[in-house]
Amino acid sequence: MKHVIALDVGGTGMKAALVGAGGELLHQARRPTGRERGPDAVVEGILGFAAELRAHGIREYGEPASAAGVAVPGIVDEAEGVAAYAANLGWRDVPLRALLAERLGGVPVALGHDVRTGGLAEGRIGAGRGADRFLFVPLGTGIAGAIGIDGKVEAGAHGFAGEIGHIVVRPGGAECPCGQRGCLERFASASAVSRAWAEASGDPDADAADCAKAVASGDERAVRVWQEAVDALADGLVTALTLLDPRTLIIGGGLAEAGETLFTPLREAVRRRVTFQKLPSLVPAALGDTAGCLGAGLLAWDLIGTGTADPSIETTDPSEVTT
Ligand SMILES: [Zn+2]
Repeated sequence: MKHVIALDVGGTGMKAALVGAGGELLHQARRPTGRERGPDAVVEGILGFAAELRAHGIREYGEPASAAGVAVPGIVDEAEGVAAYAANLGWRDVPLRALLAERLGGVPVALGHDVRTGGLAEGRIGAGRGADRFLFVPLGTGIAGAIGIDGKVEAGAHGFAGEIGHIVVRPGGAECPCGQRGCLERFASASAVSRAWAEASGDPDADAADCAKAVASGDERAVRVWQEAVDALADGLVTALTLLDPRTLIIGGGLAEAGETLFTPLREAVRRRVTFQKLPSLVPAALGDTAGCLGAGLLAWDLIGTGTADPSIETTDPSEVTT
């Protein structure tokens, strides 16, 4: 049976799968990234994991995987297939696509940025299914974004498109590690809400999930902390939707797990801010932590042009396929 290899490399763990032509997960595996062993060992770990998956495919499905997709964090040159930089993994300019192709018997390999790859899956087969224009915004340790256009995710000229977390929403506000002040992620990431609630509640261990619970039970201090985050987020999102006019706005990451505690006030805050803009539908992400792996599978199927996860969206010009 025809299948592809999908790999999602995170700062602490790697998720892998063999994915069928309909986007179904045939086989899944996880293991630690092992970043404490250094960047060379991490790369070798990725190559070894991929080779094991290939062997599994031959054993179980009678043929090797037809292609592979891998999503990695940091700065990624998707066109050249190079993992340019990742602060948490310590690597620089790793030609990961070529290394993987060599290890996997010369099959086509796609390299993607983790958030854009997860966004591709959310947009095509997850919460944004069928949307021709979407914006995926995960609210985690930081805030990132994936801009979906006609079944593809825009990387930008230099690989930085979608960095909505560094839109300035509070000029002169809190310093951001990026060098700017008042960036969105200083106010509305899960980490930022955790920090603000730990301070307001006096409990150093309190986090964003605790804040959401306190909001749901009507705690006034929590409501104030939460609303500040929601207002900052709405400011950033309205800037983004003014530029991009998405049909669907998908919110994911740890903070989105608060469900309607987040989405009800967020929809209201966005609605209050728009004037001429059309309101996109604002929905929670649907794929959880499998989005990156599913997206890597889509990237792989796109290379060989026979994936059917959503046949209504033309994603790959067959003339561009290199084998
Ligand atoms: Zn910043």
